[in-house]
Amino acid sequence: MIYCSKCGTQHEDNTYKCVKCEALLHTPAVESAPRIVQEHIPDYLVWSILTTLFCCLPVGIVAIVYSAQVGSKVKDGDIEGARGSSKKAKMWCWISLGSWVAIVLIGIIVALVGGALSQSH
Ligand SMILES: [Zn+2]
Repeated sequence: MIYCSKCGTQHEDNTYKCVKCEALLHTPAVESAPRIVQEHIPDYLVWSILTTLFCCLPVGIVAIVYSAQVGSKVKDGDIEGARGSSKKAKMWCWISLGSWVAIVLIGIIVALVGGALSQSH
């Protein structure tokens, strides 16, 4: 059983409104207070530093700059901006990694071709 908080009338548990005074018997489960957005936005800072050190320095620095922006934009409450910087940091990490892979592949091809040419003589 449930009692009206206003007039004390007894009701069944599933009664939504008091039949006497129309007061709501059940407070809504969902709180109306605005929830603070606690969204984790990856800054890819570790990846940026790693790609800078091991892959492509100029491209890696661009990634680091975007990574640093993510943190400062989250602090300012600019979630959309932080998301954008996060995406860009990720993209530049991939570009850095991709260019490194391309350089390594070209190096391997050059070495193989060079080796094959020197063997043919
Ligand atoms: Zn009532």
